Amino acid sequence: TLRAGVLAVQGDVSEHADAIERAAAAHGETAEVVEIREAGLIPDCDVLLLPGGESTTISRLVQREGIDSEITAHVEAGKPVLATCAGLIVAATDAHDDRVDTLNVLDVTVERNAFGRQKDSFEAPLDVAGLDDPFPAVFIRAPVIDYVGDGAEVLASWDGHPVAVRDGPVVGTSFHPELTEDPRIHDLAFFDSVES
Ligand code: GLN
Repeated sequence: TLRAGVLAVQGDVSEHADAIERAAAAHGETAEVVEIREAGLIPDCDVLLLPGGESTTISRLVQREGIDSEITAHVEAGKPVLATCAGLIVAATDAHDDRVDTLNVLDVTVERNAFGRQKDSFEAPLDVAGLDDPFPAVFIRAPVIDYVGDGAEVLASWDGHPVAVRDGPVVGTSFHPELTEDPRIHDLAFFDSVES
């Protein structure tokens, strides 16, 4: 059983839980989802998911609960992380916004809300490195990745911007892979990530 921690201070937690369970099932495995709202749970998790939501709120709660150092330790131990949308913002090295204290576990910087306002949300068929067919990517007030450091690799781009990146055990997407039935991004992050 894969123990999957989903940061549940804010954001769309149940959709991610379903996606993780679908990805696990595709590998003949089961997943146990642990909702993370306080320190002390992440050390027992095999993988970690940082969902979308509002990055200022997520950042504040992560700092206040002392979850930040546990996420960093999880990454330093080489354990997989999937960070989507606001999660990507929180994982980055900088968000050009004083209200977001980023975790520096993903070597990119981001511009918040740069793909447009909430009403400009859209879905696009996205070519992703390692996937045979395009992924139906849902963007909701998505961040733009405006710098990719040496440590990170671009997995997908849309409209000239990287929208999926990998930095060692951490995969970040500016879109919401949990909002479609397609489990391939969770699969890529959690089951195909560890190079042996
Ligand atoms: N606009 C949000 C932020 O900047 C991210 C959007 C999302 O997670 N859907 O925090």
